[in-house]
Amino acid sequence: MAYRSTKFAWVFITGFIFASAVQAGNSPYSKVREVTPSGKTVQVMSAGKPMVNRVSNRSVFDITVSIYEKLGVPNYPAGDDDADVDLGALDDEQNAYEEIIRFFADAVCEATNGAQHLGEVRLFKRGLHASSADILWRARDWPSAHTSGFGTNGRRIFFADVFPMATSVNALLPVNHEKAGYTLGHEWGHYVLGLFDEYEGDEANVRGLVPRKGDQAPPFPSIMSNQWPAANASVADRFRYLNFSQKDNFSSKTVQGRLHGVSGWETLLASTDTDKKFGKTSTAGSKNRIQYTNLAERQPAAAAAGSPPNYRIELPAGRNTCRQDLKIIWQQNELEMVIAVDTSISMRFGELDNAVAASKVLIDLVEEGRSAIGLTHFETNVFIDQVVTPITKEPGPGVSVRNDLKFALDGFTAEGSTALFDGTQQALDMLNDFKTANDTSAIRLVFLLSDGADTNSKTSTAASILANYQTSLVSLSPFAYGDDAPEQLLRQFAQEPLVCTELLRTLL
Ligand SMILES: [Zn+2]
Repeated sequence: MAYRSTKFAWVFITGFIFASAVQAGNSPYSKVREVTPSGKTVQVMSAGKPMVNRVSNRSVFDITVSIYEKLGVPNYPAGDDDADVDLGALDDEQNAYEEIIRFFADAVCEATNGAQHLGEVRLFKRGLHASSADILWRARDWPSAHTSGFGTNGRRIFFADVFPMATSVNALLPVNHEKAGYTLGHEWGHYVLGLFDEYEGDEANVRGLVPRKGDQAPPFPSIMSNQWPAANASVADRFRYLNFSQKDNFSSKTVQGRLHGVSGWETLLASTDTDKKFGKTSTAGSKNRIQYTNLAERQPAAAAAGSPPNYRIELPAGRNTCRQDLKIIWQQNELEMVIAVDTSISMRFGELDNAVAASKVLIDLVEEGRSAIGLTHFETNVFIDQVVTPITKEPGPGVSVRNDLKFALDGFTAEGSTALFDGTQQALDMLNDFKTANDTSAIRLVFLLSDGADTNSKTSTAASILANYQTSLVSLSPFAYGDDAPEQLLRQFAQEPLVCTELLRTLL
């Protein structure tokens, strides 16, 4: 038991550093919008669900980016938190990220021949939202991505300020913004479109997703082979380097060749039923691939026999069109949360004590002046212990809120059955009431601590909870106690916890 309680505290602490959506699924902000030629949104899908919409002109992707916390620099990257304004030198740090994202949007558009655009790109500072972000942006890392990861819990693109190559590349230097943005475009090929690499690796005896020594790139440029020449203004027809390989521009001696057996464009157009299955566990690379059907109209025409491939080129003339849906949003760091605790009878073997202890850790960790907290608990019925209340800086009425919350927690006893869904809905209602009353735009989340399946909800179901949280853009972070953890709901939200050893080390 002691072990479990310690482990729990760590989950909470690391979880809180990553604040929003610790084990929750993909970000509630991540979604795809189908947009008509006149700019009207006709369909909104939660991330990862295939779309079929005949009037759609383009698919607009809303994604999230979590930028690491620079220790000792509380507001990194510095700037005006507004991508449409440039304050000059004061804004340089944020402008670097903004420029990279703009080139990223260009690459996505060029690669898909305009079928896909970046939409709202939310940038979270201080490592917030890390476990559910589409792009985890660290200080130093190799750019990489989970293949077909978009919309799947725990999958993402890894990116960084500095790429530790033989000669390290600082993406934030103005001379490298374009390169960095196009590199994100390459990762998009993996993460959203399910394609594999087409370049030569360093070692011969590697398997699966890793390029091998002796691999041969397609004969003509491909973004999955080498995207960097696209950033070099002196390279002829440079934007070809942002396009996918085609039937007449294909190499079987690549990861793409081994795992999909066909070129990039042929993969994009193929039904996912045809994806190769390669080994028991490594199917992850393609099993979640999504066929984006409106790519079909954008494929390049086949080249005449013996001729170089055709490319459909959008840039640079189409740059404004490629960026027409792009909105870069610096998400504010304010946090509103509700802790929802299961106090049913099955929590009596120490589980409730652990949940109370973990809740107190959370309450002490939130930052004053930026946070508001509420508390609810449920057994046979649902109780509101404290409506969402700001934790203010001293002096102020919010100073005693932490003590009030802890006092309420100490009064919890384990009894009754488990109205899990109703309690989870209550937590969401509390957040929505606060937002409506105060017109805030904070990150919002619910920490749910429970050990058992729902036995007594009167109005809510797992399905209604999932739908309502999604609609309200609230992250649900469930923490399961014991073997009878609330299966239906928690399984859908909680998948892989994010392990960040670097951060653990810092804390330890
Ligand atoms: Zn790659």
